[in-house]
Amino acid sequence: MRDSSCVFCRILDGQIPATKVFEDEACLAFMDIGPLAEGHVLLIPSDHAASLDMLSADQAAAMLRNLPALARAVQVATGCEGLNVLQNNARVAGQLVMHVHFHIIPRNSGDAFQFNWPAGEYPEGRAEQLAEAIRQHLS
Ligand code: AMP
Ligand code: ZN
Repeated sequence: MRDSSCVFCRILDGQIPATKVFEDEACLAFMDIGPLAEGHVLLIPSDHAASLDMLSADQAAAMLRNLPALARAVQVATGCEGLNVLQNNARVAGQLVMHVHFHIIPRNSGDAFQFNWPAGEYPEGRAEQLAEAIRQHLS
């Protein structure tokens, strides 16, 4: 299923050019047009889904089984020291293209990509309370 207004669906349909890396029946990997580092690759499902929560477990599994090989290939091809796999959902989380995608981003010491990671801490009992609420919504 494709969404004709979606840029990544248009890439999947061949209406917009992309530099493809890998394709199978479930997913496509291609070069990010605005790389955060040389070798920045995107992995997307072949069916349109706006965000991670919209994917079926089978779709996710079919896509993610390719992730380790893709990560290894990016690492060897670029000679990077490490990688970040990043997946943004919704504008508040930095998602600009509303078709699920995993960023595979090569990392090297001293590169320009920075995280602001403001780690907090839970008051007594709060982590358990949240874990229980999350457990109740797992299906
Ligand atoms: P996000 O902010 O997580 O939605 O990331 C969207 C990513 O898609 C950005 O890194 C863009 O550079 C990339 N992007 C947008 N349009 C294209 C395109 N036509 N071909 C390749 N990458 C694209
Ligand atoms: Zn799409």
